[in-house]
This record gives sequence, C-alpha cells and structure tokens, in this order.
Amino acid sequence: RNAIQIKDLDLYYGEKQALKKINMSIEEKTVVALIGPSGCGKSTFLRTLNRMNDMIPGVRIDGTITMHDEDIYNKEIDVEMLRKEVGMVFQAPNPFPKSIYDNVAYGPRVHGQRNRKILDEIVERSLRQAALWEEVKDRLKDRATGLSGGQQQRLCIARTLAVEPEIVLMDEPTSALDPISTAKIEELIQELKQKYTIIIVTHNMQQAARISDRTAFFLNGELVEEDKTERLFSNP
Ligand code: ADP
Ligand code: ADP
Repeated sequence: RNAIQIKDLDLYYGEKQALKKINMSIEEKTVVALIGPSGCGKSTFLRTLNRMNDMIPGVRIDGTITMHDEDIYNKEIDVEMLRKEVGMVFQAPNPFPKSIYDNVAYGPRVHGQRNRKILDEIVERSLRQAALWEEVKDRLKDRATGLSGGQQQRLCIARTLAVEPEIVLMDEPTSALDPISTAKIEELIQELKQKYTIIIVTHNMQQAARISDRTAFFLNGELVEEDKTERLFSNP
C-alpha cells in the first residue's frame, strides 16, 4: 500500500525552479533515504510533504501529492491535521524549553487531550518508542535542555511520535550528533519502520545504505534515480 504518491511535482522559489517534475510513490512502512549534493532540492522536497514550504512568499507548487486518495494541497485540507499525520524531525534537536514530560505531551495537548492518566500513558509509550524511557523515567519533570544532544534528538522523535503520525519526515537528523548517538538513532529508525513510514534526508551515503529500504537520488531539482537501496549500492 502506498503512503504517498507524488505526481509531476514542480516547485518554484520565485523565478528559480527548485523541483522539476518529481514522480515517486512511497510505500507504507519503509525507510526512504533522499540523497544528493547540497542545494539539489532534498529539503525542499521533504518539506512539500507536510506543506512546510507553501507559506513561503513567492513559492509556487504544481503537480499533485496524494495521501489516502486525497490531494494534500486541496483547499479543504486542514494543514494542522496534515502535520499531525506527517510529522517532522529537524537537523538540530529543538526541544521546547519545558520539562521532558511537557515536550512529549505537547502535541496531544494541542489536539485536546487533557486526561492526565492518558497523557502519562502517551508520554511513556512515546519515550519507549524513541528508546529514551529508561534514561529519563525518573526525571520527567527536568528541563529537556539539560539532556545530551543525542537524548534531545530522541526526545524530539518522541514528541513527533506522541500524536501517532503515519509518516515521519527527518531532515538530516543525525548530522549534529556524535557517532554513538548517531548509531542509536539509526537503530531506532530500523525499529520505527515496523509502524511508521520514514523519509529521511541524509548527505551520508553510508547512512543511506545502512538504514534505508529505498534510496532516491536528487540532482539539480530532479529525481534522477529511485530504487531499492541494496540494488543501488551493489556494484554492477
Ligand atoms: P541546509 O544545509 O539545511 O540545506 P540551506 O542553506 O539550504 O540549509 O537552507 C537554510 C535555510 O535557508 C532554509 O530555511 C532554506 O529554505 C533557506 N534558504 C536556502 N537557500 C535560500 C535562498 N536562496 N533564498 C532564501 N532562503 C534560502
Ligand atoms: P538541499 O536540501 O538538497 O541542500 P534545498 O532544498 O535546501 O537543497 O535547496 C534547493 C534549492 O532551492 C537551492 O538552490 C536553494 O538555495 C534554494 N532554496 C531553498 N530554500 C529557499 C528559499 N526559501 N527561497 C529561495 N530559494 C530557496
């Protein structure tokens, strides 16, 4: 089953065309790596999937992106709900200056959850899914900014998972982290694909080879190749 279908996607920043006729289908519960040189459009493409680009002045988008038979650029779409279904994790860990608990409970609260017992369950489940629970369960009231960089990034993953998205977008989620934290997050991504569809921008080919099922190469705004990772990385 497809999680997302992209058809003839063009994106312009003013006069500059940053994405050119992108066609791609992304299967549910896979890890897709987006790779290519700096400036080739990886982040721009990632951000079109939860409409993070379309409020930038001068941006024009043509083509269609379909989730569950619905065009996500349709005027009827509730962008807040779309962002709940399509979560995002950024390059630099960006926890809110609040407690660990409040960071994870943030999304569910925004969506109206007020029941303390249910919030407790969501916080525990999300922190477990992000492989952080054991490290923080005795200090949920502590400030998130006191955690290490790698822990902060896993907290940001937990915060994204707390609203039960279908798709998780990750924009170079390990490039600000040390090798041990990076390895932990790579391992975590492998586990998360049991439940989520993960689309990850990386400039690290080895990382793409280690963690992804499929790899998409971008060059100059075009999707030049997209295939099973093991096929792309095996020598002909
Ligand atoms: P990254 O290393 O994450 O790809 P970039 O330098 O491409 O970082 O972009 C950093 C920020 O600056 C992004 O929000 C991007 O949208 C914006 N940006 C990049 N290029 C331009 C540009 N030519 N004009 C305006 N904003 C830009
Ligand atoms: P990548 O993620 O592959 O490094 P980006 O998607 O950040 O590439 O950028 C693709 C192209 O679009 C680059 O030429 C970049 O300068 C340009 N760009 C990115 N963001 C903006 C923006 N907000 N305004 C204008 N140009 C942008």
